[in-house]
Amino acid sequence: MSRRARAPRAPPPASSTSGGPRPRPTTTRARARTATAVADALVASVEVLLLDLDGTVYAGDRPVRGAAEAVAACRERGVAVRFVTNNASLPPEDVAAHLGRTGVRASAEEVRTSSQAGASLVVDRCGAGARVLVVGGPGVALACRAAGLVPVTSADDEPVAVLQGFGPDVGWAALTEAAYAVRAGALWVATNVDTVLARERGPALGNGSLVAAVRTATGAEPLVAGKPERPLLDAAADGRRALVVGDRLDTDVAGARAAGLSSLWVATGVDATAAVLDAPPHQRPDHLGADLGALLAPAATVVREGEGPQRSWRCGDAQVRRGPDGLVAEDGGQPLDVLRAACAARWELEDVAVTDDLRRRVSPLDAR
Ligand SMILES: [Mg+2]
Repeated sequence: MSRRARAPRAPPPASSTSGGPRPRPTTTRARARTATAVADALVASVEVLLLDLDGTVYAGDRPVRGAAEAVAACRERGVAVRFVTNNASLPPEDVAAHLGRTGVRASAEEVRTSSQAGASLVVDRCGAGARVLVVGGPGVALACRAAGLVPVTSADDEPVAVLQGFGPDVGWAALTEAAYAVRAGALWVATNVDTVLARERGPALGNGSLVAAVRTATGAEPLVAGKPERPLLDAAADGRRALVVGDRLDTDVAGARAAGLSSLWVATGVDATAAVLDAPPHQRPDHLGADLGALLAPAATVVREGEGPQRSWRCGDAQVRRGPDGLVAEDGGQPLDVLRAACAARWELEDVAVTDDLRRRVSPLDAR
C-alpha cells in the first residue's frame, strides 16, 4: 500500500523538499515558489513538534548542543512542543525533571510516554475500570491508574489485559504472570519493542527483549504502542500538523511515516550519515538537519537539473551527479547540503551506489 493511501498526511512545509524522498523536476513555478518561501523557517507551518529525547534533545545526562535554544525559539513562535519517548519506566513528571536538568524547560503535560499510549490502547479495547496486569517500572502502573484502569500483579486476579513496559527490576516472576494472563486470553499490549538500551557498558536488554521472552512462552504477539508503531505518535499529534524530530531512522522516522507525519532527522544521535544514505523507503526522512537548529532555518530545497545521464541534484552550493562508480559530489557546498542532494539522488535512482569520496564529504556531520 502506498504511503499516501495508508494514512492522512500532514501538509509538508511550504518550501520543503529538503532531502525528501520525491525530488521534483525543476520548473519555473517551483523556482518562484521557493524564492517567495525562502524566508520561512522549517517550523513555520508546523502546529506541534514531536521531539524524540535521547540523541535529539539530550544525550543521557548531557544536553545536546543548541537544543534548549531551539526548543525555546519554537515555543516563542507559538509552536506546541511534545516530548515523545518510548521509555515506559518513568512517569512524565520525572521525564520533565530530567529535561530541566539538561537545560530544556518542559512540563509533565508536554511529555508523552509509551506507557500512556499503551494504557490508552487498553482503555480503547477494554474500557475504563478494566483490571490490567502491569509489568514494568513505576511509569507503567501510574499510566494505568491515570487512564482509569486497575493495575494488578497476578494472573490469578483475572486481568483482561497485560501492559508490559520496561523496568530494571522486571524478572522471571513478573514475566511468568504475564505469560499466564496472555495464555488465559488477556489482551497483550507492549509499550515498545526496543530490543536494547544504550548503557555505558554496552547494549543492555530493552523491553523488546523481555517481550520476546513472553512471546516465546506463549506464541502470542502483542499490540505495540510506541515508535515505530502509530499509537504514541497519533496521540501526541492529536490531529494537528506535526513534525516528528529524531535521531533514529528505525523508530522516529519509520514511526512518522507509519503515522503519515513529516519528519526531520538530526545528526546528533544514533544513526550516522551512512545509515541515512542507505535508508530503506520506510525510513527516509523528509528533512535532514545537523541538529535542532534546522527547525529555525529555511527548509532546504533540492533541485534536479538536466535529464538522463547528465542529471544532477543541487542543494545550496552542493551538487551531486552520477559518475561511473556511483554518486559523486562536485567541489563546494556544506556537508549537510551534499547529504541532502545525495539522498535525493539516491532515493530517486534506487540502484545507484554511493562512492567512498561522497561518503567522506558528508562524514563531518558524524563527528559533531
Ligand atoms: Mg533518540
